[in-house]
Amino acid sequence: MKSILTPTLSAFTLQLPKATHLPLLTSKSFPCNPNPTTTLLPLKPTTLSPTCSIHSIQSRDVHMEPATLPPGEIHVIVGPMFAGKTTTLLRRIQSESSNGRSVALIKSNKDTRYGLDSIVTHDGAKLPCLALPVLSSFRQKFGLDAYDKLDVIGIDEAQFFEDLYDFCREAADNDGKTVIVAGLDGDYLRRSFGSVLDIIPLADSVTKLTSRCELCGKRAFFTLRKTEEAQTELIGGADVYMPVCRKHYVSGQVVMEAARTVLESQNVQCVSYA
Ligand SMILES: [Zn+2]
Repeated sequence: MKSILTPTLSAFTLQLPKATHLPLLTSKSFPCNPNPTTTLLPLKPTTLSPTCSIHSIQSRDVHMEPATLPPGEIHVIVGPMFAGKTTTLLRRIQSESSNGRSVALIKSNKDTRYGLDSIVTHDGAKLPCLALPVLSSFRQKFGLDAYDKLDVIGIDEAQFFEDLYDFCREAADNDGKTVIVAGLDGDYLRRSFGSVLDIIPLADSVTKLTSRCELCGKRAFFTLRKTEEAQTELIGGADVYMPVCRKHYVSGQVVMEAARTVLESQNVQCVSYA
């Protein structure tokens, strides 16, 4: 009997050191902790130093257990330009932050309209952020330790990130992060833009915002490009785009397509002369 019991008991004994980590982890899971980083971080080395020889292995084991990680979430905010997507994203991020959660903001480095170190809404609200070419570089740039302590990740102008799907899935499914994504669902031709629509099957919630039609004041669902350029990605503000209702999208698009066709034929002539 003894020979059977002993291994069982020793297995339980091995679990005991994990219990000493629990207060550390559970305190992180209380979002109302008014100052989570300053109360948690200094405790870590001193609390864990007696078991430092096995600390790194244990903390990774505890971290990997699904039961100890709060579940991740994905929330998607879409709509045409000037619908308040960035404002809504910033409001949600600020709300998470004031609830004691650790937050970070990412935007594409393609959008340099307001500088690369902050996100600014059309109405002037501003928050610091990281401007990146791809989301896969975020962990490295932000710092692996800092990433582990992060609760909420906001992504603005998400249509510019090709690796949006993989990043969101991994952050929410494996890393327990809340990811809030804001981006255009459609381009100026109302076709799916980037990977924003691809993450809807992953999402907890989807919010489609609307703007006001610049021509009639009705609800605007679409973005009309006012200039002749025909490429999908053309960064611009009110000088290039305007929000429109369905009726004015259709009539406006007819006019703009005709203008682009005329200009294209002129360009061909110019090239042939060159
Ligand atoms: Zn209209």
